Amino acid sequence: MDTYEPPLYELSSPGKHGANLPALDVPKSPLPDALLRQDNLADFPELSEPEVIRHYTRISQRNFCIDTGMYPLGSCTMKYNPKVHEEAARIPGFGAAHPLQDESLSQGALQLMFELQNYLGEISGFDAVSLQPAAGAQGEFTGILVFRAYHLSRGEGERNEVLVPDAAHGTNPATAAMAGFKVIEIKSDARGNVDIDDLKSKLSPRTAGMMLTNPNTLGLFEEQIVEVSRLVHEAGGLMYGDGANFNAILGICKPGQVGFDFMHYNLHKTFTTPHGGGGPGSGAVGCTAALAPFLPGPRVRQKDDGSYEFFTPKQSVGRMKVFHGNFGMLVRAWTYIRTLGPDGLREVSETAVLNANYVRVKLDDIYPPAVDRICMHESVLKGQIAGAKGVRTLDIAKRLIDYNFHPPTVYFPLLVPEALMIEPTETETKRNMDRFIDAMRQIAHEAVENPDLLHEAPTTAPVRRLDEVRAARQPILRYNAEAFAKLREG
Ligand SMILES: *Cc1c(COP(=O)(O)O)cnc(C)c1O
Repeated sequence: MDTYEPPLYELSSPGKHGANLPALDVPKSPLPDALLRQDNLADFPELSEPEVIRHYTRISQRNFCIDTGMYPLGSCTMKYNPKVHEEAARIPGFGAAHPLQDESLSQGALQLMFELQNYLGEISGFDAVSLQPAAGAQGEFTGILVFRAYHLSRGEGERNEVLVPDAAHGTNPATAAMAGFKVIEIKSDARGNVDIDDLKSKLSPRTAGMMLTNPNTLGLFEEQIVEVSRLVHEAGGLMYGDGANFNAILGICKPGQVGFDFMHYNLHKTFTTPHGGGGPGSGAVGCTAALAPFLPGPRVRQKDDGSYEFFTPKQSVGRMKVFHGNFGMLVRAWTYIRTLGPDGLREVSETAVLNANYVRVKLDDIYPPAVDRICMHESVLKGQIAGAKGVRTLDIAKRLIDYNFHPPTVYFPLLVPEALMIEPTETETKRNMDRFIDAMRQIAHEAVENPDLLHEAPTTAPVRRLDEVRAARQPILRYNAEAFAKLREG
């Protein structure tokens, strides 16, 4: 039987409209010609208001989102975004503030930025914070530019190498290369830590610094972090902390106290500002006093009379973002920190770590762990199910969609074959994690008994398997009847 689902597109019919304006009761005042649209509106859809509402609501329902289900996407910390943040961000003094408004009329917004700088600095153990960067990757780029400015200021411009572990997120080597540095890869050892001997052999007077994620992307705490930092510093290099995994150590470990000189915070991961399609993000950065003169501005400081002002450090690497960063995200992160307080933040990490270990222990007899160790906020397993022929991690991930779960991160970190990186986060209940564990076990059973179920998945989603490379390389970002027709033909 045909479904009676109405079409998503091509709903327009001439003359229809959704606006309902009262009769004009003032004299007409003609607009200048220059302001009038001259081209023809032939392709502009004509629809009634309910049709428009249904169109957008139905499209929104085709996406999986954290508000409808569990999203165990390792390394991304997809946790619930409390709705009180949305109310705070919509307070007119914040939501309707103009970025060019005078400082004297924006004191509340500046105070919020000042306090957020201090909170982030306190939580991470850094002396100075800039809220400019728009995402983690931009925070990384900021950090490496700051490293370069620091070395140049000391006459050490020959330092042109950045060390990056083989477990690193792709943005780390990309950042170093974009900033003009040579990327030197460091191996991981059998326990999933930085291999100290390999590190020693690659340190030199050309070392500008090292980029390290801690806990690392295997979900493991770097057991020799203090030693790693000491070695890099002894060689004259600086330590960059990729803070994407900060959710594991809030209130427990301060990166600034274990040797990091600079770090980015993904406010959209750890501090629950919307993420992915719901962005934009924020990649605020923190650093030691020695690097503070190079931070991007404007930053906020308090004057002697208690009021707030913007300033840009004299040796600043410059602006990273127009105006004042993604201000709405700053309001949400501030609200999150203030709602939880220090004890609440610590509890976030303790619960996130407990949840990740719960899921790991319940699955590791079927899905072998990459490294058999207690994990932090996420664990990396392998989609290598005993007795399942021709089944890959991708098939497992796609089958999870049929069970109504967002798939975990797959094939990352690159050094783990068939990697499945699972991060339940602290906002999932035990009941939900048990449902997820059941689904994963059921899928492993199917993989042996009826692998085609996995090869054909997903069957219940609005679309089946996509050509992901083509979607990334040749995205069609707005509706175009011809392009859609071509796609359907294949
Ligand atoms: C998410 C992530 C990044 C990049 O952060 P964006 O905000 O997505 O730019 C960098 N490193 C790691 C480990 C990450 O998980």
